[in-house]
Amino acid sequence: MTRARADRYTFPWGEADSCPCSSGYTFRDCCRTAPGKLPYVKIPSLEPPGEITGHAHPKCYMARTRNCSTAKSREHYISEAILRRFDKLLVTGMPWQVKGEKETFPASALTATVLCERHNNALAPIDQFGLRTFNAIIEACDYALGSRHSGRVLHSLISGDGMELWLYKLLAGIHFGGIAAADGGLLRDTCSFPLDELVTSLTTGTLPDQAGFWIASNLGLVERGHISVGPLIDAAKNSNVGVQVRFGPIQFEATLVAPAITTSHLEKLAPMKRPRILDFVGPARDSRVILSWPGLAREVRRLEVKLEPQD
Ligand SMILES: [Zn+2]
Ligand SMILES: [Zn+2]
Repeated sequence: MTRARADRYTFPWGEADSCPCSSGYTFRDCCRTAPGKLPYVKIPSLEPPGEITGHAHPKCYMARTRNCSTAKSREHYISEAILRRFDKLLVTGMPWQVKGEKETFPASALTATVLCERHNNALAPIDQFGLRTFNAIIEACDYALGSRHSGRVLHSLISGDGMELWLYKLLAGIHFGGIAAADGGLLRDTCSFPLDELVTSLTTGTLPDQAGFWIASNLGLVERGHISVGPLIDAAKNSNVGVQVRFGPIQFEATLVAPAITTSHLEKLAPMKRPRILDFVGPARDSRVILSWPGLAREVRRLEVKLEPQD
């Protein structure tokens, strides 16, 4: 088989193989679910360890849990490991920007104190899910475009709900950290924010049903080495409800509430909500990225991304 079959979702990992989630366990003891079903990558606990501290750090967006440390942390709110994959960060859709305007920032622009040290540590596992998603998609594109000869299908496994949590964490970073603008406007001063939904998601690892993330792929390729990030603002409510991220042939949009504002925007892109299969179709061979979600799927949503060689 040299092409990924649209109607059959097999994967090449045997029971005794090491698990494709990189845990170091065997597939059988890790992400395998029921026979014939797609695997599931577990989300670790995101609660800070031990007793609740009773402290609310004024700079921490998780402060309402009253489980902060007094120490704060200043960090990149897109993990540095992800930023290292890109040299240019384009920021779009900020309130001070004209529609369609883009600004380029160095990666260092994305540092801010948005979490206390205790919450920063507790939420750190989410960064790995983001990094694995970026790595898997970049590798999948490179593989599918890498040869004009047919070959086996490259398979990888990433966590769909882990990536969704990463997008929410990014959204919180953009909102509460802000990105320095010429006129100094920060989202946290100009827009409201669905903090309840955010805190619930990042405490329990459980995702709001009506919200979620969408993937679209028909926007053309973003220049190599570039990643584009911007908020999704519900203009009617003046609320910063979501985030969009573009790189390679992919656009992610994640919202914390039902996406009233973003629907028109999304419709044009014909995106897919929480897909389980992303197939990257190259000139001669394919890559399949399996996104895992809690619960067994009745219906497997599959998004096909056609890649044109660029030469
Ligand atoms: Zn695993
Ligand atoms: Zn905190």
